[in-house]
Amino acid sequence: MKIARFNGGRIGIVEGGAVYDVTDAAVTRGTAWPPVGPVQMIADFSARRPAMEAAKGSAKAIPIGDVSLEVPVPWPNKLIAIPVNYHAHALEMSSPAISRNGGFFILSNSSLSGASEPIVLPDLPGRQVHHEAELAVVIGKGGRHIARENALDHVFGYACLLDITVRGKQERAIRKSYDTFTPMGPWITTADEVGDPSDLQVTLWVNGERRQDANTRDMILDVPEIIAMCSSVMTLEPGDIIATGTAEGVGPIATGDTVSIEISRVSRMDVPVRQGQGGSNIAIPATV
Ligand code: MN
Repeated sequence: MKIARFNGGRIGIVEGGAVYDVTDAAVTRGTAWPPVGPVQMIADFSARRPAMEAAKGSAKAIPIGDVSLEVPVPWPNKLIAIPVNYHAHALEMSSPAISRNGGFFILSNSSLSGASEPIVLPDLPGRQVHHEAELAVVIGKGGRHIARENALDHVFGYACLLDITVRGKQERAIRKSYDTFTPMGPWITTADEVGDPSDLQVTLWVNGERRQDANTRDMILDVPEIIAMCSSVMTLEPGDIIATGTAEGVGPIATGDTVSIEISRVSRMDVPVRQGQGGSNIAIPATV
């Protein structure tokens, strides 16, 4: 099943180029704030799925191009990211902090945005802002100390994710947490449709030019090991999002660009880039 969030918190099932509004079957609090409905739906999915499928049967088909796609889980308990998780990217970044010994870091949930929203660049003269194409894992069943062998049972689904990054020497959290710096979507494709996450092609284009193209088999830490590692430290909750790290080929983006990401068996999204205002802050080093 492909589950989208659209038009102000509506929940829809995506099929055949159309979205079917199943909000009333999927979430109990509708579009109320805070938008935790998707987290509750994920936690309770096996019970809600039949009603969602029934609602789809009586919903009208809305062409996917006619809706505004929003981040599928806007209020997760955690947004986790894995640094430098492909060997070739470790080489290009000259980074000793590979995920084997670097672990994970936490991003601001408020950096999440949807497939129909632009990446808004802060006004930081002289700084480069890079694209990073990543597979997003959405946790379905929470837990602590999850064994690698059982880890995939805890996955709800997968999505495309862009980990947009200001290069420089500040902490990752500040350089990656600007609003709109974590586009995710265009929807969640449930794990049963995706199958093995260790054989997914992750490709990124800027204005149609291919910049990144890697297979998740080349991850340093694979998805089960990532889940085991994160849950060795903290309880994973339904709806938690894990950005699993990027491969080689990262590079700058600028206003007017369109960044496209496609992950085989998962989805594709095309995200525009716009220049915003403000965003400078303390202690920005002069060099990238
Ligand atoms: Mn990243």
